[in-house]
Amino acid sequence: MDTYARFPLELAKGKGVWVQDTAGRRYLDCVAGIATCTLGHSDRVMRKALSRQLGRLQHVSNLYRIPEQEELAAWITSRSCTDRVFFCNSGAEANEAAIKLARKHGHTVRGIERPIILTAQASFHGRTLAAVSATGQPKYHHGFEPMVEGFRFFPYNDIAAFEALLTACEADGPRVAAVLIEPLQGEGGVNPGDPAFFRRLRELCDRHSILLIFDEVQIGVGRSGALWGYEQLGVEPDAITLAKGLGGGIPIGALAVKRSVDHFRPGDHASTFGGNPFACRAALTVVQELERRALVPHVAAMGMLLQSLLRELVDQRPHQLEGVRGWGLLQGLVLKADGELTAPAIALRAIEAGLLVVPAGPRVVRFVPPLVIRPKHLRLAVSRLAQTLDALAGA
Ligand code: PLP
Repeated sequence: MDTYARFPLELAKGKGVWVQDTAGRRYLDCVAGIATCTLGHSDRVMRKALSRQLGRLQHVSNLYRIPEQEELAAWITSRSCTDRVFFCNSGAEANEAAIKLARKHGHTVRGIERPIILTAQASFHGRTLAAVSATGQPKYHHGFEPMVEGFRFFPYNDIAAFEALLTACEADGPRVAAVLIEPLQGEGGVNPGDPAFFRRLRELCDRHSILLIFDEVQIGVGRSGALWGYEQLGVEPDAITLAKGLGGGIPIGALAVKRSVDHFRPGDHASTFGGNPFACRAALTVVQELERRALVPHVAAMGMLLQSLLRELVDQRPHQLEGVRGWGLLQGLVLKADGELTAPAIALRAIEAGLLVVPAGPRVVRFVPPLVIRPKHLRLAVSRLAQTLDALAGA
């Protein structure tokens, strides 16, 4: 169906940070399936591990124990503030699970009949009905009303507005079950969270027994230059949602929670494919390689390099560019608000220069390359972007 405004590009194969179209042209991939292909394309270790898994077992029902799933859950919980994991297949599905958990928390812990979940304006939590209802961007709601009830929105990083909303919601007694929030807003324009805002948010959630859930679907699993986005803020959530980079290109999602808020009991939630042996093998390979190749500190270093290269570009083109923001290998180049350039126009023209980048809204060009990207690739990417900006200025 016609659900995507696609770029005129047909990709046939890839290797590392490079992809090739059906005509044989090569592109430096700073999109990585939108922050997904953690180890790049056609990684040797990934290929071997997945081929071996295909020869053993692809899928069994969650009616039975799945050792690969248990191993992956053990990895996630041993390296994060969480203790228990539910597996599914995508970011939206992970957030659906989180929303159900939040509502159950509201009912059982706070005694709320009709729980509310607070989320941020300009957030993005996915396209299924509850996830899109949680998303604080009206453009994604239009045409699909009525939305799922029970969501209220506050301006991101604005503690006074958050407190005012919380007070209003709780005026007649407990109503708020959870806050669902991205540590860094990806789709909403690459907006990093403010640690002071998040610290106060944590205090308020603790005071009222409100669940604090971080949507780490885009920023989690090493992309920020720390393993988890919450580490950048110095604030521990009660639960995190994951997908994208976790499977390195094989669909998997997860809701990981602290034991104290694990309200799910047998029969409460389920997914046929969720956490099957093949997807879990993919994710296990990703996270094991992340550690074996010391990719998290590598991402931190590459993020600093990319940010400084993009800053130089901003300094050279103050009439076109506003600034750079982001963490690690999720960086946004911000365009002048009143300029003629748009992020989709740049992404389209960059294809001609052999570079793939992705818009995050109309005024932000987003870089989310594979985490294995090296300095020479980043320099080439930024020089191709400069070429693109020149071409657009000339036009
Ligand atoms: N949450 C965040 C922060 C995202 O960036 C995305 C996708 O871009 C989603 C949720 C939805 O994930 P999916 O497309 O896998 O459903």
